[in-house]
Amino acid sequence: MKILSGKSVFSGIAIGRISVLQQEDFSVKRIKIQDTQKEIKRVSQAKEKAVSQLGKLYEKALREVGESGAAIFEVHQMMLNDEDYLDSIRNIIQTEKVNAEYAVAATEDNFAAMFEQMDDEYMRARAADIKDISNRLIRILCGSDEENMETSEPVIVVAEDLSPSETVQMDKSKVLAFVTRKGSSNSHTAILARTMNIPALINVEYEADMNGKMAVADGKKGCLIVDPDEETIKKYRNLQAQEIKKREMLKELKGKATETKSGHKINLYANIGNPSDVAAVLANDAEGIGLFRSEFIYLEKKDYPTEEEQFQAYKTVVQNMAGKKVIIRTLDIGADKQIGYFHMDREENPAMGCRAIRVCLDRPEIFRTQLRALFRASVYGNLSIMYPMIISLEEVKKIREIVESVKQELTEEGIPFRKDMEQGIMIETPAAVMISDLLAKEVDFFSIGTNDLTQYTLAIDRQNEKLDNLYDPHHEAVLRMIRMVIENAHKEGIWAGICGELGADTDMTESLVEMGIDELSVSSSMILPVRKIIREMK
Ligand code: PEP
Ligand code: MG
Repeated sequence: MKILSGKSVFSGIAIGRISVLQQEDFSVKRIKIQDTQKEIKRVSQAKEKAVSQLGKLYEKALREVGESGAAIFEVHQMMLNDEDYLDSIRNIIQTEKVNAEYAVAATEDNFAAMFEQMDDEYMRARAADIKDISNRLIRILCGSDEENMETSEPVIVVAEDLSPSETVQMDKSKVLAFVTRKGSSNSHTAILARTMNIPALINVEYEADMNGKMAVADGKKGCLIVDPDEETIKKYRNLQAQEIKKREMLKELKGKATETKSGHKINLYANIGNPSDVAAVLANDAEGIGLFRSEFIYLEKKDYPTEEEQFQAYKTVVQNMAGKKVIIRTLDIGADKQIGYFHMDREENPAMGCRAIRVCLDRPEIFRTQLRALFRASVYGNLSIMYPMIISLEEVKKIREIVESVKQELTEEGIPFRKDMEQGIMIETPAAVMISDLLAKEVDFFSIGTNDLTQYTLAIDRQNEKLDNLYDPHHEAVLRMIRMVIENAHKEGIWAGICGELGADTDMTESLVEMGIDELSVSSSMILPVRKIIREMK
């Protein structure tokens, strides 16, 4: 038995086998070879294997997300069989007398550069696909067998670090816990663990040979126990049973109002990233959705989601919530949420760079597509929109102009939409806090994003694991800002809520309610614990 300490970013207990995610660095070396035919044969075998892997992925995606989500794997199969692509690889092997891996990497660079220079946006986006198929070939040539990573039983996922796009592609029903060596408590992977209500640990110094071993992930103490003895497993099974019992007791609060003893009511909503999260929202009796991180729809795709795809996703959520409020945040990419097909420039300081509303205002065609889908979905229920990372009145004005022109377009096309849809902004920057008195005159509500507000107020990159102990949403500066935002909202008669992680911090619930917060939006698993505290307040 070995106990590895780490830092808990979400509580809970998981007992199961470890699956160490292979995230090897496949940096390709150029090696001179004699037998070119042998290398060409290796490419051809790797290609066959890649095509077969993609066939399986296509079937899986077809079952799980339907034809539109699965189609990309068919496209990749076609690209792998493209004679120009294969000729280029064979040619490099023969003329330069180099290894197959190098020839694939060189072809990848050439083809990707060619696509990236094309005028047509669709063709430019194909560069990301070339990279994808080439990396798959290189992985196979390097002996990494992706199929072995597929397990039938749920596992404790152990990895160096996890990007939002990696976590989003995982089969959630197969994950018992997340354990990483790197990462910070405020990363989106940590947020995802909270949404999934599974334990998550960071800063764990695991070893690759732990793959397949039994383990306990203790999200309370913040440790991973590898090869636990019988007694330890028994102890943790008991703790698990107690947790389940506690959760069962909380279920009594379902259907009850979220109000203090004196009748002060708070709107208690849930945060989601995907239409499939609505099941947990309803199971935990949330009163609405206070933050739908719409960028996860983009992260799951290999290309820009179409208006129709987005419309279907938003409509599904709104319809399933049956009249309860659904606040959808417009695309918030950049910083840690990078998407290949957006071809964003590399930045020195991405957290302070081109992200969220800045991307949307810079590329209005992408923004307009999303707005059209949102307005079209508005007639199916109680939908509101909110805009992330606002710093100025000018941004709000520009958003309004684009929104008005989208509405005009829909009217001319005879497409129905709700004309009076509520539109709010996220307060995530000190700038927005300081002008919240002015912003409150222009929008319908404020939702405070304490994750970013803490980052920008304290000048601490929320992704920087070394500064994790200084990242403090309870800092007096952050709390004063929250108070100021609430006061300025109320002066103009609009409501203010919190959708950052602080809203789910049960040590803070009483203070936030006392400050006058109108709404809290938390991960589904935290709805009932927060309701319990509010109902116990005077
Ligand atoms: C926040 O910043 O608090 C927030 C809710 O947005 P995200 O965590 O997605 O950046
Ligand atoms: Mg944010």
